[in-house]
Amino acid sequence: MSAIDSLPPLREVIAQHGLSARKSLGQNFLLDLNLTAKIARQAGNLSSCDVLEIGPGPGGLTRGLLSEGARRVLVIEKDRRCLPALQEIAAAYPGRLEILEGDALEIDPLAHLTPPIRVVANLPYNVGTELLVRWLTPPDWPPFWESLTLMFQREVAERIVAEPGSKAYGRLAILAQWRAEARIAMQLPPGAFTPPPKVSSAVVHLTALPQPRFPANPAILSRVVAAAFNQRRKMLRAALKGVSPHIEDLLVEAGLKPTDRAEQIPLEGFCALARAVERESQGKSG
Ligand code: SAM
Repeated sequence: MSAIDSLPPLREVIAQHGLSARKSLGQNFLLDLNLTAKIARQAGNLSSCDVLEIGPGPGGLTRGLLSEGARRVLVIEKDRRCLPALQEIAAAYPGRLEILEGDALEIDPLAHLTPPIRVVANLPYNVGTELLVRWLTPPDWPPFWESLTLMFQREVAERIVAEPGSKAYGRLAILAQWRAEARIAMQLPPGAFTPPPKVSSAVVHLTALPQPRFPANPAILSRVVAAAFNQRRKMLRAALKGVSPHIEDLLVEAGLKPTDRAEQIPLEGFCALARAVERESQGKSG
């Protein structure tokens, strides 16, 4: 492990600050600074960007982002035990690291950031998925971020980039691919983390498109897709019964077969259905 900065190795930082990993906070730390610098590079050239990092922990990825030249990094960390270690990093990179303590699901970081903004994070699975869905479904587009570079369990990463017809295809694929370009940028074995998790991980890189691939209201699209995949083995006319009493007509209006199953429907079909549902709710349906 060669040094990427003048700060102590992460194992020393963890020992010095007593940062034993807590399962309840999903703490699996990356301690190899060459690896964290490599993850930071997946986010592209950061020299003219502010970076939002959620869950910095002892700061391995934070140090990667700063050593790779990020203009500024804002971190949000829930575990206050990590704050002294993060303050040491802030002192080594004067004026470039701001630390917020708290729950990323409850903090609005925008007042602390100047565009262009990129998001980079290695987060617990449930928090990561929740934040990803929020970042993908704001009412207006483009969003506050240019790109998201996020670590997930490999199985979740595969759901984000999945194509129609595959088992992994579902809500995450549709929401991600509707408004962004999504790809798996890196795969990591459990042994890359301390302590090692049970499963492999992958870094997903999403770039915001200037506008969604097809028009649709985000809230309606989310609702339709959630209902369709909640009962993914059922035909659409049954799975979507709760969306509208006239769902068969709306499916036909959207160019879909009421007997199709969610797994077969491409993104374009779900967007057409969301538009038909919206027209009906506005009383404009034929
Ligand atoms: N980024 C570090 C790394 O790569 O070594 C730590 C990664 S660890 C998987 C996840 C981090 O997210 C932990 O430091 C944990 O305390 C923090 N965390 C968990 N839930 C959080 C939340 N809701 N808001 C902010 N941070 C959270």
